[in-house]
Amino acid sequence: MSQTMKAAVLYAVGEPLRIEQVPIPEPGPGEILIRIAACGVCHSDLHAMDGDWSDLPTLPLIPGHEITGHVAAHGSGVTEPALGTAVGMPWMYSACGTCEFCLGGMETICARRESTGYSKQGGYAEYMIAPAAFVSNIPDGTDLYALAPILCAGVTTYRGLMRSHARPGQWVAVMGIGGLGHVAVQYAIAMGFRVAAIDVGADKLELARGYGAEVLINALDNPVETVKQQIPGGVHAVLVTATANAAFEQSVKMLRPGGTVVFIGLPGGDADTVRASISSISGWELTITGSNIGTRQDLNEAIAFVARGQVKAQVSLEQLDNINDIFDRMRKGQLVGRTILKIS
Ligand code: NAD
Ligand code: ZN
Ligand code: ZN
Repeated sequence: MSQTMKAAVLYAVGEPLRIEQVPIPEPGPGEILIRIAACGVCHSDLHAMDGDWSDLPTLPLIPGHEITGHVAAHGSGVTEPALGTAVGMPWMYSACGTCEFCLGGMETICARRESTGYSKQGGYAEYMIAPAAFVSNIPDGTDLYALAPILCAGVTTYRGLMRSHARPGQWVAVMGIGGLGHVAVQYAIAMGFRVAAIDVGADKLELARGYGAEVLINALDNPVETVKQQIPGGVHAVLVTATANAAFEQSVKMLRPGGTVVFIGLPGGDADTVRASISSISGWELTITGSNIGTRQDLNEAIAFVARGQVKAQVSLEQLDNINDIFDRMRKGQLVGRTILKIS
């Protein structure tokens, strides 16, 4: 094994990534070294690079948190997963394991959690370190390139749909049919919901139609009125995975009485605040909630949908050297499905 690896590194927010050779990290106690096969390019990585969120990333940073690969080395005290096993590494790098949230099945909101490709080094590289207890096992025979988006887009929207408390047969609107939204539509259909897909891109709405979305709405075309015309009374739930602030304010107005909107997209900066009608929320008993990635158990469940063939991300494979160009296209909304870095 050579002692250096290729990686894409962020040195300052607002700058492009630099492709360079860096030392291969060594796993410490309780850690493994992953030889990375694939890493998805999530919009959260673009927010990290642009410094959109108040809590800034640790620099210099190797971004990337939709990782699949194989165990290449063990740190001391680690025997599992065995060398050579296929594993996945999500945004949740670690959590304390002892606080009230970790113990209550809500490790996603542990105050001492660490984030892959944000507070810890991520997957835009040939190798990375991960705590052995936080990698997910992958069923035999799984396509590691097609699975990568499930490590963030999949688990996040699967948990978001559960947090919407929608029931089979009810209407769920998915706002934003990007990397997250295109798998959200598939999870929603697999969970028995009826789907309205909303995006500004016609190609993205077509993708949603192919998965079984019954109502397709262009977000530039009065989406609130259009939803209410096509689904009288409004939708039971909305999952907002869009990156534009407008979508969040619109989402609350699409709800049926008693409905729930789940905020997932994270526009950040000045776009981080919404205005919503207090009297509507009170009078119609609406719920506005959030969903933050997913627990290890959520991830196992999200992967199981893929293993059963009910969810399949649409992936475009690209080289690590193209990363800055991929982000240019993401900014313009030109990526359809999920773009995956094919690393090995
Ligand atoms: P993406 O760029 O692949 O997709 C965003 C989609 O939103 C695009 O299809 C775009 O056309 C669409 N869009 C833009 N403006 C819109 C509007 N006004 N109405 C409807 N759709 C609109 O991004 P992604 O990787 O899917 O990530 C989406 C967001 O989710 C990002 O903000 C990301 O940081 C966030 N995210 C949150 C979590 C979490 O745990 N809460 C996890 C992962 C990602
Ligand atoms: Zn992500
Ligand atoms: Zn904790």
